[in-house]
Amino acid sequence: MNLETWLNNIADFLVSAGVPEEHGPMAALALIYLGLTLLSLLIVIALLRRNLRSADAGEEAVEQDVEPPATPGTKTHIDRTEDSASDEGPKTQEAPPAKEVPTFEEPVNLFQRMRTGLDKTRRSLVGRLDALLGTHPCLDEEFLEELEEILITADFGMQATQELVRALTERLKDADQEDPGQLLEVLAEEIRARLKDSGPDWPTPESGPLVIMVVGVNGVGKTTTIGKLAKQFADQGKKVVLGAGDTFRAAAAEQLEVWGTRSGSDVIRHKEGSDPGAVAYDAVKAAVARKADVLILDTAGRLHTKVNLMEELKKIRRVLGREVPGAPHETLLVLDATTGQNALIQAKMFREAVEVSGVALTKLDGTAKGGIVVAISSQLDIPVRLIGVGEGVADLRPFSADEFVEALFANN
Ligand code: GDP
Repeated sequence: MNLETWLNNIADFLVSAGVPEEHGPMAALALIYLGLTLLSLLIVIALLRRNLRSADAGEEAVEQDVEPPATPGTKTHIDRTEDSASDEGPKTQEAPPAKEVPTFEEPVNLFQRMRTGLDKTRRSLVGRLDALLGTHPCLDEEFLEELEEILITADFGMQATQELVRALTERLKDADQEDPGQLLEVLAEEIRARLKDSGPDWPTPESGPLVIMVVGVNGVGKTTTIGKLAKQFADQGKKVVLGAGDTFRAAAAEQLEVWGTRSGSDVIRHKEGSDPGAVAYDAVKAAVARKADVLILDTAGRLHTKVNLMEELKKIRRVLGREVPGAPHETLLVLDATTGQNALIQAKMFREAVEVSGVALTKLDGTAKGGIVVAISSQLDIPVRLIGVGEGVADLRPFSADEFVEALFANN
């Protein structure tokens, strides 16, 4: 049967189905055309579906065959997931959450954060020294005067500045005058020598919780430091109780409660204006009863009733010492680096009233006067235990003299 016969047959069929006779051949052609179009569409759809299926199969094969990237961190994550998920049904292949970033990277990141935090001081101190070395190739009288001014401006304090200039003059008197660049090296060494390495190797209590009493004037960052510390202890798996001993400042207890929630710590608080000694008593009792590892007690920081405040702090110490032998094991004085030499005055004042055993120096990121660390170390016999170089929890750092000097002087 040829095409014409086909066409006639279809036209006859359409005419018998009611199409007017004169339109029969045209209708037959239109029908064939429609049929062919439909057929092509079906073929295209079938081909597309087949391609999609093979693409899916290809991806599955890749997921099954290709090993995860061979970075140590990823491996650590996978091992841990397998271990911990062993009796918890099917394992998922989700990407690790942010906090499981490989631990081997942490020191680098934390050091970088510290460097960033000390940026203002670095630029003002090392930047100015570099400029000075560029314009004064020899260590003459004028150079030493400029150097002294730079150190004073960075808040090293008169005593540390004079000591440093003397030491530099002595050490560099026979040095190659053509190589003043070694001044930075020698200065870094001399600064390092004046810093005590005093990161928080917290005392180990004879029995009961480690009790840290935190003192300092309002606004220095006391509550924030307590909160960050609580979170860091909690992240180490320690049970923490917080005592809201600043009953004078209305927002202090609320602020502490926020940190309590954040760190999963219990917060012991009384109503505003109540006796801080009573809060200390309840907090230490609760810490012992709940077998806490650490009690961190906030205290008031109002200065206009200085005598009362100091008496209050002494009383709190007695209360703590009666309940836990040797408590407080640490009396941490919080100082705000941006207040410069005023911080030293505060330190002397608190030291007269209570046995301050360590300093937390906050807000170093907000000042170009980071030399205050050296001033505190050389003028007060109190170790700097912690430094705050930013608002984040990880920005409260154990103080390491080596790290501090490196962060200031390293080239990159
Ligand atoms: P308190 O009155 O001594 O308890 O002081 P707060 O804990 O309320 O802190 C006062 C302010 O200082 C808050 O805005 C904190 O976020 C801020 N702060 C504390 N430590 C640091 C730090 O190391 N760096 C910066 N940039 N801000 C800080």
